[in-house]
Amino acid sequence: MSVDFSQRWAWAEVDLGAVRHNVAHVASIVAPAQVWAVVKANAYGHGSVQVAQAALEAGATGLCVAVVDEGVVLRRAGIMAPVLVMSEQPADTAPFLVGYGLTPTVTTTMGAAAIASAAQATGREVPVHVKVDTGMHRVGAQPAEMLSLARYVAGHPSLSVEAVYTHFAVADQPAHPANERQLSVFRAVLDELSSHGINPPLVHAANSAAALANPAARFGLVRLGIAMYGLLPGEGVRDLCAGLRPAMSLKARVSALRWVPAGDAVSYGLRRPVEKESLIATVPLGYADGVPRRLGDVPGHVLIGGVPRPIAGTVTMDQIMVDCGADSSVSVGDEVVLIGAQGDATVGADDWAALTGTIGYEITCGISARIHRRWA
Ligand SMILES: *Cc1c(COP(=O)(O)O)cnc(C)c1O
Repeated sequence: MSVDFSQRWAWAEVDLGAVRHNVAHVASIVAPAQVWAVVKANAYGHGSVQVAQAALEAGATGLCVAVVDEGVVLRRAGIMAPVLVMSEQPADTAPFLVGYGLTPTVTTTMGAAAIASAAQATGREVPVHVKVDTGMHRVGAQPAEMLSLARYVAGHPSLSVEAVYTHFAVADQPAHPANERQLSVFRAVLDELSSHGINPPLVHAANSAAALANPAARFGLVRLGIAMYGLLPGEGVRDLCAGLRPAMSLKARVSALRWVPAGDAVSYGLRRPVEKESLIATVPLGYADGVPRRLGDVPGHVLIGGVPRPIAGTVTMDQIMVDCGADSSVSVGDEVVLIGAQGDATVGADDWAALTGTIGYEITCGISARIHRRWA
């Protein structure tokens, strides 16, 4: 018996047209720099294979992931574009990196040696991207180590330096002086390598915020993540994101209704009594699906019938309750929009983030695997 679990009354819709639009929009701004689409973390919860294909259709020329497994998923789906794994991986994954034709990031000579021995076993020359820590202090060789690392890679018969790159810590605050400091450290490293005859065909530094805000950071390619999903990298670049369209909606249906008398409260803890008799709609998704529990306290609003309605109490693991007040027009089966648009009203992942003290990235990454994605 085949079972179709996609009929659950809670689902996410991913608008691949919005992804294509956002990629093409940013590509036109950053040209002639290439766009490599960042599809780590299942494309920030949007579906890595589907988003990768849409991004490539829209003009992206490469892809970026965080870990080897994510690259393998893309290759097994038949995607042939370059796939950069953006930090150095455990040495014992080198055969998979090389075997699947993924592009390794190298930040240590030991890491480069692991890639080289896997490459030698296949007889192939593997292009690598060497990453330098210019001030974020997360991943990368120290600037003073870069020459010897790049020389090792350039001098090894099984490796080549396809790119040198770095990553910004505060690109979402374009006026922050650390951006210029990181760029000048980066340029000094590039100059030093160049003076020793190492001129990588590719140089890159920019995430979404830097790609949009800082032409000097674009170099040969930009690594486009959050803006491709139509979400804000941060408040400091809100104006530059005006042309983007959010790709993910989170929807559900009203599964049950009841009238609750004035003074009664709803959900675990019975925390907030309703002021007047109210119609309470139960909606069958909760924190196990990625609705932050905190959203019940704030409270956040969901859309039913094009009207924003507050969450009535604590978000539970599998369900939330929504206060429809005196509105008796709400019925079981009605569409509920948690993230997205209904009529003229919208709620964004960025709104959830603002209400719960986080960023849109964490909201969409947090929409769990239990939520079925529908791509359109
Ligand atoms: C996640 C990531 C990106 C993408 O950042 P956005 O802000 O989502 O555009 C780019 N580069 C690196 C190294 C990353 O880890």
